[in-house]
Amino acid sequence: MGASSISPGDSFARMDTCEILIVGGGPAGSTCARLLKRAGIDVMILDKKAFPRDKICAGWVTPAVVQELEMDVDAYRATGRTIQPITAFRTGMIEGRIVNTKYPEVVSYGIRRFEFDAFLLERCGARLAPPAQLKSLERSANGWIANGTIEAKFVVGAGGHFCPVARHIGAQLGQSESVVAAQEIEFPMTETQKQDCAALGEAPELYFCPDLKGYGWIFRKGDFLNVGLGREDNHKLSEHVAEFVRWLKAERRVPQDTPEKLGGHAYLLYNHAPRPFLGDRAMLIGDAAGLAYPQSGEGIRPAVESAMFAAEILIAAKGDYSAAKLAPYEAKMLQRFGARQTKSMTERLPEGLKKLAAARLMGSEWFTRSFVLDEWFLHRKQEALQA
Ligand SMILES: Cc1cc2nc3c(=O)[nH]c(=O)nc-3n(C[C@H](O)[C@H](O)[C@H](O)COP(=O)(O)OP(=O)(O)OC[C@H]3O[C@@H](n4cnc5c(N)ncnc54)[C@H](O)[C@@H]3O)c2cc1C
Repeated sequence: MGASSISPGDSFARMDTCEILIVGGGPAGSTCARLLKRAGIDVMILDKKAFPRDKICAGWVTPAVVQELEMDVDAYRATGRTIQPITAFRTGMIEGRIVNTKYPEVVSYGIRRFEFDAFLLERCGARLAPPAQLKSLERSANGWIANGTIEAKFVVGAGGHFCPVARHIGAQLGQSESVVAAQEIEFPMTETQKQDCAALGEAPELYFCPDLKGYGWIFRKGDFLNVGLGREDNHKLSEHVAEFVRWLKAERRVPQDTPEKLGGHAYLLYNHAPRPFLGDRAMLIGDAAGLAYPQSGEGIRPAVESAMFAAEILIAAKGDYSAAKLAPYEAKMLQRFGARQTKSMTERLPEGLKKLAAARLMGSEWFTRSFVLDEWFLHRKQEALQA
């Protein structure tokens, strides 16, 4: 435990101290904390919510994530938590030709963030501050003082898209940021709903919007059903979502009583995120840094990988948090994820050509397996990092 002291002039508030404070206990924060703790560093996590907590997400992770997190799938399942193996996909354009792709092995897993994040946070072994929103962050002689009650030599911002640490180190949250807006619902199905749902657990369904600005999904995980849609353009998002759910019902892919109004959240794709990686005695990881993969919107793997790089650099810094010691974090991120503020191949194509090509390509079994799934959604060629 870090020392507690009375802060002068602070009406007897208890001051807790730690070497590194991580703001946010999602997959990025808990992964970074676990590695720092394992290296003997006094690390503390501050999250605004008590866990388990809900997180809007489809809950899809690849085997690379499971490996990087050093998770034992069987042991995780044995605790009663959901981990749905995936060996196939049903994909296509909304109202277009459907392609079924099968794999001989497990290529992904479906988890429930309510369970997964709580498991990772508990496992990380870091001290947890009482749940509280980070409201103030002031520079002190030794580092930072958070909420007037926690003093840390270094702060890691892992508070997701709206992370307050990102604002402190210069990110213009909500301004000049082109976000992905997504809506989703996850609910336990009744016996009647299960019979009324054609989607299979081992085969998530992905349906692309005709303008290619996003896609919707159905993800059946054990007894739970997760349905959602995300778009790079949030104009009339709720209408797109309701229309998508009505189409799924007409196709009898989801139960007829599936709600058409879903909960929403925003986040940034890596190539559109103008956020800094580093600041004065601070760094950003996960969604706080805007890291989700451009084509799929998958953000858990980049969150975990950025946390691993951050921990590696902080451990090597041995308490020297100078810019020179931290610079390798940015270098590693750019090497792993590429340059930022770039346009993807599809963004560079003219609109008409894009739609025409998309309708043909998404109906092709070869294109779907080789590019949409293996490359864009599963990242099968990208080796997992070693923890
Ligand atoms: C609809 C939708 C579907 C998605 N589906 C997938 C998917 O299937 N697979 C995938 O890989 N990615 C998916 N993503 C992206 C993924 O959810 C994120 O990239 C991932 O959660 C990032 O992890 P993180 O730890 O950086 O942030 P988060 O998981 O957002 O964790 C941030 C934590 O910070 C806390 N926090 C926030 N503000 C404060 C504050 N002021 N003070 C203290 N604590 C604070 C929050 O309570 C939270 O616990 C999806 C996203 C959306 C919106």
